[in-house]
Amino acid sequence: MKRIALTLAAVAALTACSQQEASNELVIYSARNETLMKPILDKYTEKTGTEFQLITDKEAPLLERLKAEGENTPADILITVDAGNLWHASENGVLASVESDTLNKNIPANLKSSKNDWFGFSVRARTIVYNTDAVDPSELSTYEDLATEKWKDRLCLRTSKKVYNQSLVATLISTLGEDQTQEVVEGWVSNLATDVFSSDTKMMEAVNAGQCDVGIGNTYYYGRLQAKGAAENIALFWPNQNDRGVHVNVSGAGKVKHAKHPENAVAFLEWLSSPEAQEIFAGVNYEFPANSSVPSDPLVAGWGTFKQDIIDVETAGSMQADAVKLMDRAGYL
Ligand code: FE
Repeated sequence: MKRIALTLAAVAALTACSQQEASNELVIYSARNETLMKPILDKYTEKTGTEFQLITDKEAPLLERLKAEGENTPADILITVDAGNLWHASENGVLASVESDTLNKNIPANLKSSKNDWFGFSVRARTIVYNTDAVDPSELSTYEDLATEKWKDRLCLRTSKKVYNQSLVATLISTLGEDQTQEVVEGWVSNLATDVFSSDTKMMEAVNAGQCDVGIGNTYYYGRLQAKGAAENIALFWPNQNDRGVHVNVSGAGKVKHAKHPENAVAFLEWLSSPEAQEIFAGVNYEFPANSSVPSDPLVAGWGTFKQDIIDVETAGSMQADAVKLMDRAGYL
C-alpha cells in the first residue's frame, strides 16, 4: 500500500515537473516578421519567463506546414497579417476556438472571427495617399471616386495579387454589390498612370516622386516612409467619411488546434490584447491598437482620427474568391 502511494507520489511529482517545464514554453508560427515580433516576445519573456520558439515564414507555407503536421505540430499560436489569411487558416481547421472574457472585452467584434478562433491585435487602414503638390484634399472623397474620369492617368495601385487589395475589393463587393464594384475596379484600371506595383512602398514612392497623383495603400507603409523622412510630398486622406468609412484590416493570431501548450497559448493571446502589449504590438509597425482604450504611437496619432468601416473583417476572407475573379474580369493585374 505504502509502495503504491509512493509510486503515485513519484508519478505526480514527475507530472508536475514536466508540466512546469512545459509551462515555460510557447511555439509560434508567424507570418509577421521577426523584427516586429521580437519586442513583444521579449517583453512577455521578461514578465513570465516564457521561452519562445519563433518560426517565421510566408502565410501559405505556414498554413501548409500546420496542415501537414496535423496532431503532431509543435505550434501553439499562428500569427499572420490580413483577415483574409486568418480566415483561410480557420477554414482549413488548424485553429481552435478560444472563449475568453478578456479577449471579448478587449477586441471589437468586427476585428475577430465569429468562431472566436482568431483575433485581430493591430489595425491598419488601407486608405488614399496623395501627392500634396498635385492634389488638393478637397478634390478627394471616396474609393469609388478614384474610378471617375477626373483621375485619368493619375492613379497608382499595387498588384491585385496582394491579399490587401483582395480584402479591400471583397468588402466593396459586400457593400456595393458585384456590378457596382466591377465598375469601380474597371474605372481604377483605366485611370492607372503606370503598371501596378509589387509593393505599397514602391507605389507610395511613385506618388511621392510625382509619377502619379494618388494611390491606395496601408497606413503603416506611409508611417515607415515618414519615419525615415521619405514622405515629404505625400499625405494620407481618409475616404468615405460621409458613408461607411475607411477600409481597415488586421494583423492577428489564433490558438493552434493541436497546441501542446494550450493554456499558455490562451494566456499569451489574452496578454496580447492588454494595453501593455497593444502599445508595443501596434507601435512597432505604426499600426493602430485593436483595443480601442489604448493610445496610438505619437507618429500614428498625428494622422488624425477617422471613421472606420466596421464591416466584419472576416468578409475579406469569405468573399476573397469573388474578389479575385472580379479583379481578373476587370483587367486588374
Ligand atoms: Fe504589409
